[in-house]
Amino acid sequence: MKPRIQFAHLPTPVEPMPRLTAALGGPQLWVKRDDQTGLAFGGNKTRKLEYLLAAAQAEGAQTLLTAGAVQSNHCRQTAAAAAKFGLDCILVLFGDPPDPPDGNHLLHHLLGAEIIFTERDRVEAQLAATFEQAQVEGRRPYLIPYGGSNPTGAMGYVNAMLELAGQDVAPDWIVFPSSSGGTQAGMLVGARLSGFAGKVLGISVDEPAAVLRPRVAELATATAAYIGEGWTFSADQVLVNDDYTGAGYAVMGTPEIEAVRLFARTEALLVDPVYTGRAAAGLIDLTRKGFFEDTDTILFWHTGGGPAIFAGRYQGRLV
Ligand SMILES: *Cc1c(COP(=O)(O)O)cnc(C)c1O
Repeated sequence: MKPRIQFAHLPTPVEPMPRLTAALGGPQLWVKRDDQTGLAFGGNKTRKLEYLLAAAQAEGAQTLLTAGAVQSNHCRQTAAAAAKFGLDCILVLFGDPPDPPDGNHLLHHLLGAEIIFTERDRVEAQLAATFEQAQVEGRRPYLIPYGGSNPTGAMGYVNAMLELAGQDVAPDWIVFPSSSGGTQAGMLVGARLSGFAGKVLGISVDEPAAVLRPRVAELATATAAYIGEGWTFSADQVLVNDDYTGAGYAVMGTPEIEAVRLFARTEALLVDPVYTGRAAAGLIDLTRKGFFEDTDTILFWHTGGGPAIFAGRYQGRLV
């Protein structure tokens, strides 16, 4: 369909979660294991990077450049892809650098990335300046947007929906954390392509639904165009729940702590404090509130993020 370098471990398994289902006493809960995509602890960015790497290589790129928070899973997987394919990687990060480096940030270092810290509101300017400098130095940079969320990256989740269509579950709902929107946009286009009959519900990690829904719709429309389909998606076709954004991005509260523990103790699944733990907290709450029908099958799409558990700022509060 589009140029792709296959390095993710696919298809990721789909598994029932019988003990979590029993603990919550509601609909049948399943999980899709994109925490097991195989690239340096895996996660959803690995699928996006299969397409982004192919595009970078087609341009003859020698350096990958991207940005994210200090505990960014996206930056960790980008650094891993660069290492695997012999490219340089420059990461523009915001937040407080942990000393010593821990969690994903330890892995940014281990994977050999060059790291530049900046203020959150200076990320775009820093990226532009770093890109230009790398170009001048003849390092052939390739810019991967925040979260890998452009039509090229979203292709990873178009393909993931085709993969799901060949697996042994027909969910009424897919529930997962949504943030920069590429995962959800790709899923929506893939759902249309594969004739998926269920609903795709993003649990917002940080943005109000009024921001995230049009963002996803616009990216889904652009992704459809990228594969030659004239489909348009409007904000009201995008399902987003923003009830669980808590005290803000990467601020772990009681619901996330409960979710991390419950998933670990019922299913031995490790969800993270920032993304999957927040979506899991939403899933738990929605199930308890009777939002789903008891006869529904719910697929929790595990997008990864596990290494953040080992960030010192969370570690001590999780036990
Ligand atoms: C990046 C990320 C997400 C959000 O995906 P988007 O495509 O940015 O919406 C969800 N979960 C984890 C673990 C992530 O790293």
